[in-house]
Parts: sequence; C-alpha cells; structure tokens
Amino acid sequence: MQFTSTHYACPSCGAYQKFSAITGKLTCEFCTAQTEIPTSSEIVETIDFKETLLSIRNTPIPIDSRDTSCQKCGASFAFKPHSISTNCPYCDVPAIIECLQEIKPKSIIPFSITRKDARSRFKKWVASRWFAPNAFKKYLNDNKILLGYYLPHWTYDTDTTSQYRGERGDKYYVTVTKTVVEDGREKQVQVQESRIRWTSVSGTVYVDFNDVIVGASPTISRSILDSLEPWEIPKLLPFDDKYLSGFEAEEYTTGLDEGFTLAKDKMSPTIRNKIKRDIGGDEQRISSTNTQYNNKKFKNALFPIWTASFKWNKKEYNYAINAQTGKIVGERPYSIVKIAFAVMGAGTIITAGVYYQEIMAYFMG
Ligand SMILES: [Zn+2]
Ligand SMILES: [Zn+2]
Repeated sequence: MQFTSTHYACPSCGAYQKFSAITGKLTCEFCTAQTEIPTSSEIVETIDFKETLLSIRNTPIPIDSRDTSCQKCGASFAFKPHSISTNCPYCDVPAIIECLQEIKPKSIIPFSITRKDARSRFKKWVASRWFAPNAFKKYLNDNKILLGYYLPHWTYDTDTTSQYRGERGDKYYVTVTKTVVEDGREKQVQVQESRIRWTSVSGTVYVDFNDVIVGASPTISRSILDSLEPWEIPKLLPFDDKYLSGFEAEEYTTGLDEGFTLAKDKMSPTIRNKIKRDIGGDEQRISSTNTQYNNKKFKNALFPIWTASFKWNKKEYNYAINAQTGKIVGERPYSIVKIAFAVMGAGTIITAGVYYQEIMAYFMG
C-alpha cells in the first residue's frame, strides 16, 4: 500500500528538522535552527480496557507493505513492517506516516540519551567484559551500529482479587532419642528435631497493580525488553509525532488482549507472595488460586531504545539501551580463546575468582 509521509521542514533554511535528545526540540542539522515542541496540557490518561476491546477487532491489522515516496528527493522506498517513522535511505530526510492500528499511541517518553552518549556507554560496558572478542570491540567503532527506535508498549492497571486454597506449615520440635558412639562406646542421647505441622487454609487477597509494562513489538526479544525496565512512567508526555522525527518508530503487533495475558504472568509472583504472607506460618503451600482482574485500564505508549546487533561465530547477539535511563542489556559473546587462556593461567585463586563468574555465565549460556 502507498502512504503519504511527512517531515518537519526547517522554518529558517527550508531543510528538515529532527528531534534532538539534547534540547528536546526539533533541530535542523544544517543551520541549527530549533523549534519548540508545544507541551500539551493534556494529561496522559489511562483508557478503559473492556470498552476499547469491544470497539476494536481482536488481532492487530496485518499490513505487509508500507510504501512511500520521499517528500524531498522523490525516491520510492518501503517502511519496515509495522514502522511509522524512518529516514529516507537516499537523502536521510525523515518520513513519518500515521499509525494504522486501531489503538493510536497516546503517550511517549522522548529520547534523552543521544546516539553519541549511547555509543560511549555501550563501549564502556563492552570494555568491562574481558571475554568479549576483539572483533566485537572493533565493531563498536562503526557509527552506524546503533539504531534509535521508539517501540510500542502497553502499560496495564488493574485491581486484583484472588481466592486461594493451600496449607500453612508451622514448625514444632520433638525430642528424639539417638544412639551415638563416644570413646568407642555406644551412648543414648536426646536431641531436638524440627517437624512441620500442616493445616488447610483458604482466603482472599487483594493487590492493585499500576503500570505493568508489556512490550508490543517483536523487534527486540521480550527478555531484553523486560530487562530494560524500569521506565519512569510519570515522565510520559502526550504523544506528538514530532518526537519521532529522525528515529525509527513502530506501532504495536502484540494486541491489547494478548498483552494483558503476558501482564498476568508478570503480576503472578506478586500475588503469590501476598498469598504466602496471608497464609503466614513458617512454610506455605498454595494448591489453587483464582484471580479476578477488575477495573482494567491501559496506556499505549512509545518508549525510546537504542539497539545494536552483532554477528559473531554465526550467532547474532542483540543489545539495547534504555534511552531514558541509560540502562544497558544484552547477550554477550565470549571469546573461547580468551577463556582458555584464562583457565590455563588461573594459577592463583584471585585470578580464578575474578573470571569465575564470567566463565560460569558462558557455560550457563
Ligand atoms: Zn535549517
Ligand atoms: Zn529522500
């Protein structure tokens, strides 16, 4: 499908402006003219889940191709699947299209970490990894390794009520007689041993959740997305596509309902802990839980992420930086040669200790 893309022209030289993570404004790379992005007084609202679900189709709209022509140089090119913002591959002019999914993003955390800053943080992080292969360190000198993405996320609020059944374990002590050998002679002694007395219990616990975050894009693995948390949700701003200018941006591919199923998995440990505290005693067993999720609300937000991927020994390693807080996560490649040398040279306990964790991390995958 053909879409008309837009870009923000520079009001002073006629070139184009991109969002700057330094100034928080649209900035021209040619004449440095800046344009303020008006901060809307609109409050970032949470939206009712049930009502929304009734008004939309259940699964996200599949849109295979998103073709556009550059507003500056006229060249035709295609957006990546689910992308709503990119730069012209020929002249680098930003190209932004409207969101096509039924639920539009209502809020955004703008980039506050620049590409330069992200790269130096990334380099420092890799340098502290002794087993990283040299090829990896060299690759970091390439300026294009980092891609700035706004990735869609659902944040869910819900009040939960959970009925549970289980057992409470209380410790008690018994005195038992044991035979020991002392000075070659058998002897009877009395010792204290602990036992657990189990009692059937049942009850109800209430937990209110705010902003349970679920990534809604397949561009970065879910485990990396989860590790990028926490996000500072109070700093969400009302959505404006000016923040996207110059960056890649995507809309959701994980539906609202599907996302909530994933959110349940994230809430479950908190509910279980609350149940265990409610049961009390020294040990707890939970045999069944039935949770109702009431008052469900959500936000559809875009979060800023720097990503990089590195191919080494036929395997791809992915990295990401939370571009709000600077937190880095990723899988790291290990040089087997370096590990072998470390193991051979691990003559002292100190050396072994230093590398132990890295070696274990390697073998544990
Ligand atoms: Zn300009
Ligand atoms: Zn162009």
